[in-house]
Amino acid sequence: MSAQSLVVIGHGMVGHRLVQNLRQRDEADRWSVTVLCEEPWAAYDRVGLSAYVGGWEPNALALDGNDFAGDPLVELRVGDGATAVDVAAHTVVSASGATHPYDALVFATGSYAFRPPVPGADLPGCFVYRTIGDLDAIRAAVEGRDGERAVVVGGGLLGLEAADALRSLGLIPHIVEHNDRLLSAQVDAGGGALLGRLVTDLGLHVHPGSRTDAIAPAGDGLAVHLTGETVLDAAVVVFATGIRPRDAVAGDAGLALAPRGGIATDRAMRTSVPDVYAVGECAAVEGTCYGLVAPGYAMADAVADRLLGGDGEFPGADTSTKLKLLGVDVASFGDIHAADDGALEVVLSDAAKRTYAKLVVSDDASTLLGGILVGDATAYTTLRPLVGSPIPGDPAALISPAGATVGAGSLPDDAEICSCNAVTKASICSAIADGACDLSTVTDRTRAGSTCGGCLPAVKQLLASSGVTLSKALCEHFDQSRAELFEIVRATRTRTFSALIAQHGRGIGCEICKPVVASILASTSSDHILDAEQAALQDTNDHFLANLQKNGTYSVVPRMPGGECTPDQLIIIGEVARDFGLYTKVTGGQRIDLFGARVEQLPQIWRRLVDAGMESGHAYGKSLRTAKSCVGSSWCRYGVQDSLSMAVRLELRYRGLRSPHKLKLGVSGCARECAEARSKDVGVIATETGWNLYVGGNGGQTPTHARQLAGRLDDDALVRCIDRFLMFYIRTADRLQRTARWLEEIDGGLDHVRQVVCEDSFGIAAELDDAMESHVAGYRDEWAAVLDDPETLERFVSFVNAPAEPDPTVAFDDSGPRKVPVLVGMPEFPAANA
Ligand SMILES: Cc1cc2nc3c(=O)[nH]c(=O)nc-3n(C[C@H](O)[C@H](O)[C@H](O)COP(=O)(O)OP(=O)(O)OC[C@H]3O[C@@H](n4cnc5c(N)ncnc54)[C@H](O)[C@@H]3O)c2cc1C
Ligand code: SF4
Repeated sequence: MSAQSLVVIGHGMVGHRLVQNLRQRDEADRWSVTVLCEEPWAAYDRVGLSAYVGGWEPNALALDGNDFAGDPLVELRVGDGATAVDVAAHTVVSASGATHPYDALVFATGSYAFRPPVPGADLPGCFVYRTIGDLDAIRAAVEGRDGERAVVVGGGLLGLEAADALRSLGLIPHIVEHNDRLLSAQVDAGGGALLGRLVTDLGLHVHPGSRTDAIAPAGDGLAVHLTGETVLDAAVVVFATGIRPRDAVAGDAGLALAPRGGIATDRAMRTSVPDVYAVGECAAVEGTCYGLVAPGYAMADAVADRLLGGDGEFPGADTSTKLKLLGVDVASFGDIHAADDGALEVVLSDAAKRTYAKLVVSDDASTLLGGILVGDATAYTTLRPLVGSPIPGDPAALISPAGATVGAGSLPDDAEICSCNAVTKASICSAIADGACDLSTVTDRTRAGSTCGGCLPAVKQLLASSGVTLSKALCEHFDQSRAELFEIVRATRTRTFSALIAQHGRGIGCEICKPVVASILASTSSDHILDAEQAALQDTNDHFLANLQKNGTYSVVPRMPGGECTPDQLIIIGEVARDFGLYTKVTGGQRIDLFGARVEQLPQIWRRLVDAGMESGHAYGKSLRTAKSCVGSSWCRYGVQDSLSMAVRLELRYRGLRSPHKLKLGVSGCARECAEARSKDVGVIATETGWNLYVGGNGGQTPTHARQLAGRLDDDALVRCIDRFLMFYIRTADRLQRTARWLEEIDGGLDHVRQVVCEDSFGIAAELDDAMESHVAGYRDEWAAVLDDPETLERFVSFVNAPAEPDPTVAFDDSGPRKVPVLVGMPEFPAANA
C-alpha cells in the first residue's frame, strides 16, 4: 500500500512534536509527510529562546531530530511557508510556488506577537520577542548602546524574559505594565508586591499602572510617552503585549475561525473542514486558544493518534507556571484567585526572607485548589500535582518553612509530575520498576523533564522513594563519593593513596579509584603527579605526561596561553617537529599538537621546548586545557575589553589545576563571541562596563551552552568569582563530571552555586580563595620538573629491560597528503583522553 500524504503547515515546537510522534508510531509507514517551515530554521526550542542571547548560536536551540535526517518519508521544506490552501482540491501552495497534495492537512502555525495600536509602534527600534529573527534584530539595534535605557511594554512572563535579555545585552530595562503589578495573570496583589520589590532590587525599573500612549523618534533613539507626563528615552522598545493565533491562511481557505481568533476545532482537533486539523497555539479548542507548549503537545499527540486510526482527544490543559527569571522564583498553579465557591486562602508572607506563599483550599480545607509561590518555589513540584487531591494535614504546614513537606513519593499515582509532557507519577514509577535507575534513563523512557526540566527534582524524589538506591560509592574499594573523598583528603591532609585506602577503603584499588584519588591528591597539594607512589595511580596519559595515540605513540602539546605564540617559539616547534618527524596540527583550543612521538623521545622533545621557554599544555590531564581567546580590543575594532590579556591571565592562573574532568575557558572581547566562550566550562564575555561570566558550557556529545553566573565584573572581581567557582566544582563534583552535568545535578543548580560563589552562602569563600592561592603559588611546570629528575626520567622508555630500543611496532605512512600511523600488530586501545 502506498503511503498517504500528510502536509503539516508550520515547523514550530508543536508541529515537530506531531511529526516525531507520528513517525515513531507509524510502524507500517502509512503516512509520508511534507513539513512546510516558514522560518529559516527548522523547529527550535522557543520556550528556551532567551538562552540564544549571548551564544547567538541557532543550532543550540534546535529540537532533537529536527532535520529528520535519514527518514525518507519526511520532506522538510525550510524557508518555504504555506501561502494558500485549496480544501476542495486537497492541495497546499507554498512560497516557492510548489503545490503539495494532501490526504490530511494539519495547521501548526502558532501565534504572532501582538503590537498594540500605539502611534509609533512600527518605528525602527521597536521590536517583538518571539523568534530567533526577532532576537537577531534586537541584538543588531542595541550594539554599542551599552548602558542605555530599553523599554519593555508588558510586564507578563514574556516581558520579564525580554527585560532579562536586554539586561544581559548591557541595557537598562524599564518595564511598562498597565496592570497594578507584574505577572498579573500568575500572581495576586500580595505576590505581585513582593515580585515588584525583588525585581526592582535587581536593577530593573518597573512602571506599574502605566500605559504607553505614543512612541516618537528622539535623536538616535525613541521617546516613549506614558500616561501622564512621563517620557522615557530609550535605545529600543520591545513589545511583550500578548500573542494572536496565526489563522490567516486557514481563514482564507474557508476554515471556521473562533470568535476571538484561532482555527476552530473540537477536542479531536478537527477543524470545520474534513481531513484538516489544527494544533498548538493556532488552534481554538472549543473556542479557547492555549499559549503554552504543554497543551500544544497534547493536541499533537491526539492528532497523531487519529491519523493512525485511534480516537485521541485533547484532554484539557494545565496552565500552571513555574519560572525563574532574573534569579527570582515564581510559581502559580490551579485556582490562584480563589474563584471556586467557598474557597479559602492560606497565606504566608515573610518580608524578611522575601518569600510569599499562598494556597487556595476548599471550604473545609481538605482539598488543594491552587497556589502562588514567590521568592522560593521549591514546593511547586510537589504541590502542583496535589491540586484536586486531599491535603495531608494542615495546609499551612505545606508552605511553612518548618512545616511538613510533601514528597513526590506520597502523591497519588495519577498526579501529573511533568506537565509539559503529561507524564504521571505512575508512568515514572513504572519506568523505574522496569529498571530506569537514573535521571537520564527515566527522562529518555518517559519524556519527563525533557522540556522545561522543572519536574526533575520530583523525578529525583521518586527515584529515591522507589527504593532505587543510587549508590554514591566511587567503586568497590570506596563507599564514599568523589566529593566525600575530597573532603576526607582535605580535612585529614592525607597525602598517599595507600594511607587513604587503608583508613577509608578496602582492597588494593582499581582503575577507577586510583586516578580519582591521584587527581584529588594533585588538587590538594603541589606535589608532582609522578612523585613516589602517585606515579602508579595515574591513568595512561598522565603516566607519560602526553596523549596516547592509536599506534602507541604520543602527542605533545606545549601551552600557548590565550593562543599566543612568538615567532621564535613557532620556529622551535617547527624544528622539533621536523627533527623528530612529527605530524603537526592546530587544535580547536588554539595551540599546536605534535603527533607521533615515541615514549623515549618525549624527554628529548620537551628538553628543547622547555629550553625555548615553553611548558606543558596539560592536554593529557583532567585539568585546565586552554583559555581560548579572540584578539579583543587590542586589535579588533569591535572589541570593548582586552580579552587576550584576560585569557592569558586566566590560563596562567589555572594551568596545572587538576579537576574531576577537563576544563576549558574562553574569553571574547565583545558580544560577537568569536572565542565561543559560552561553549566552555568558564566563558567570559566583555561588555562596555566589564565582564559577564558564564559557566557550565561544553561541546562534545551533549553540547551545552554556558549560563550566566555573574555580570558587570571588573578584572579582579571576575578572577575571584572564577577562583571560587572552579574550587567549589573541584570539591563537589563527581568523577568525570564536567561542569555542565555538575550544574544540572547539584542540588539547587546554578542558583545554589551562585549563592555559594557570589554571596558566600556557605561561608567557605575564604577557604576557596586560599585553596586557589596555594595552587597558584605551588605551580611548577610538570615537564620542567621531570627533566630535572633523573629517576623520573627513567620511566620514559618503551622497554624497561632495553631502554635504548625503540618500539618496533611503531610505523607511519608518509605517502598520502599527511603522515598517518600504521597499525602493525597493535592491540586495540581504549578511547584515549579526548
Ligand atoms: C520567549 C518565549 C518564552 C516562552 N516560554 C514558555 C514557557 O516557559 N512555557 C511554555 O509552556 N510556553 C512558553 N512559550 C510559549 C511556547 O513557545 C509556545 O506555546 C509554543 O512554541 C507553541 O508552539 P506552536 O508550534 O504552536 O507555535 P510556534 O512555536 O510559534 O511555531 C509555529 C511555526 O509555524 C510557522 N508558520 C506560521 N505560519 C506559517 C505558514 N503559513 N507556513 C509555514 N509555517 C508557518 C511559524 O513561523 C512558526 O515557526 C514561550 C514563548 C516565547 C516566545
Ligand atoms: S569577539 Fe573579539 S574578535 Fe570577535 S568581534 Fe568581538 S572583540 Fe572582535
